[in-house]
Amino acid sequence: MADIIQLLPDHVANQIAAGEVVQRPASVVKELLENAIDANAGCIKLIVKDGGKTLIQVVDDGIGMSTTDARLSFERHATSKIRNAEDLFSLNTKGFRGEALASIAAIAHVEMQTRPHEEELGTALKIAGSKVLSQEVCSSPEGTSIAVKNLFFNIPARRNFLKSDQVELRHITDEFHRVALAHPGVQLHFYHNGNELFNLPKVKQRRRIVNIFGVRMDEKLVPVEEETQVARIGGYICKPQFAKKSRGEQFFFVNNRFIKSPYLHHAVVAAFEGLIKPDTFPGYFLFLEVDPSSIDINIHPTKTEIKFNDEHSLYAILRATVKHSLGQFSVSPVLDFERDQNLDTPYAFKDKQASQPRVSVDAGFNPFKTDSSSFQSAAFREKKSAKGWENMYVGLESGQKEQAFSSVQFESDPSSTALFEADTDLSESAVTTLQIRRKYILTTIKSGLLIIDQGRAHQRVLYERFLRSITVKETVSQQLLFPLVLSFSKPEISVINEIREPLSQLGFIFDTVEGEDVRISGVPPMVPESEIGIVLDQLISDWQDGINESGFSQSDILCKTLAKTLAVKTGELLDNNSQLALVNDLFGCKESKVSPFNKPIFVTIPESDIDKKFI
Ligand code: ADP
Ligand code: MG
Repeated sequence: MADIIQLLPDHVANQIAAGEVVQRPASVVKELLENAIDANAGCIKLIVKDGGKTLIQVVDDGIGMSTTDARLSFERHATSKIRNAEDLFSLNTKGFRGEALASIAAIAHVEMQTRPHEEELGTALKIAGSKVLSQEVCSSPEGTSIAVKNLFFNIPARRNFLKSDQVELRHITDEFHRVALAHPGVQLHFYHNGNELFNLPKVKQRRRIVNIFGVRMDEKLVPVEEETQVARIGGYICKPQFAKKSRGEQFFFVNNRFIKSPYLHHAVVAAFEGLIKPDTFPGYFLFLEVDPSSIDINIHPTKTEIKFNDEHSLYAILRATVKHSLGQFSVSPVLDFERDQNLDTPYAFKDKQASQPRVSVDAGFNPFKTDSSSFQSAAFREKKSAKGWENMYVGLESGQKEQAFSSVQFESDPSSTALFEADTDLSESAVTTLQIRRKYILTTIKSGLLIIDQGRAHQRVLYERFLRSITVKETVSQQLLFPLVLSFSKPEISVINEIREPLSQLGFIFDTVEGEDVRISGVPPMVPESEIGIVLDQLISDWQDGINESGFSQSDILCKTLAKTLAVKTGELLDNNSQLALVNDLFGCKESKVSPFNKPIFVTIPESDIDKKFI
């Protein structure tokens, strides 16, 4: 057989490698920003057009490159950051693979200008699809400017695969945040289509966080600090009351490199245990410094996971440190690590008023009424009161526990019951319902039993209601007595502007959206005033989390998010009228079988199946 194996030409190899390094414009932004940081820049400008599809440019005032280095920097495995394998264990730089520039140049038009401090003239270089088009001497400022144009111009399939400009911009913004948070000492500018999105001066860490996420963030932060042999931990956590239903403001940095670590995330969440609702996530900005030789970041060019030698100790230290901070700033009732956890108030009972025990008296008792001898009557009385005490305990035992607890006011009780306006004729009808485990509603149908998931049913009802108000344009809005001013970070404001139109169709009335402030004078009827901020946060973060990449329409996504946020949850007590109304509303829906998220809403158990069990 003839030989068939060939070495791939360089430009093909580069294109293949590029697939690993560059997934989307944000990957280019990450590589270029990191190179600028590695070059000791004091000021970095990021200039982006059309979500990075047309242009991504990073201009720095770092050390620059000589003419030879400028040319070499685009070769694969060309790096100034390591010389031998041992260097991998003492890394202080972001880059070390020497792959980024070669990969980017394989799939885009790249223009570089660079000048080192000691030289008078710089070098200008143009490369497209790994081919050097021109190299010239030029006059340029100190530092380096790299412009990446028409990403994936030679791989149409990849280019078509890119999402909308908005989505790509959001990914870019995420990368920008990560670099900006890790390097508060570096001045950063970020422009998109000519608009300045961020202008971050050189500041201390806390200021940097606030400058990125808005003034509202300042009051949320609690400092964290600990030094141990395994690691130095610094940074901030957000107070438990600001925990959000969606992820977003969770940042881990190890030796100033952003990483994702579900394991360490768990350690932080564990420290918050009992202080936040189970389905919420605390915000944190945590900076770990460890000996570079104790970690392995060499897993994948773009992956943000890293391996720690001593992960278990790190987990324990992190958890204790965060707990300690929560305690120290008296945001947590737990000050003593040894304390019996059984004594801590569970979240659901936090801030609840103690309910007064009710003593029932025998209203019919008449002390002057003597039926036979006075002696007898006294004995009877005694017996009766003793029985009365017994009765008080009966309620607390066994099956009736649920009822005894219903005297405790739950935070969500008033709103959830008010959500359903029971049709009077329905409550008088023969339908009976029963709530089980504050989770399901049980009712009978002709053929047997029907068990409804209360949360999903309500999501469906609300979802269809919101959809109607958007599509039929029969917007109903509840006017606020006093307009509410809420502040948001810049990226959040831009999302609000993006979705302002459909939001107003849903009933949100925005008087003004200016700077970081949003003035709201009306909201959809179902939104309690106290929750407007939470609801908007949720809408924004779902939007940012890229639910909108799913291909659904904008308004559909908003309706889903609103329905999810406002629907009753498992654990909420519904009175009888609310249960009936919910069942009624559900079966008035166009689709009553599945929730807006495609989960089954109810199950039926046919009578014949029940009969079979009794054979
Ligand atoms: P790596 O960062 O892994 O070394 P890159 O392909 O990102 O690989 O960069 C290759 C080399 O080009 C770097 O090692 C560095 O010497 C040089 N370089 C890249 N960007 C800059 C910059 N902005 N300023 C100075 N030198 C740079
Ligand atoms: Mg690099």
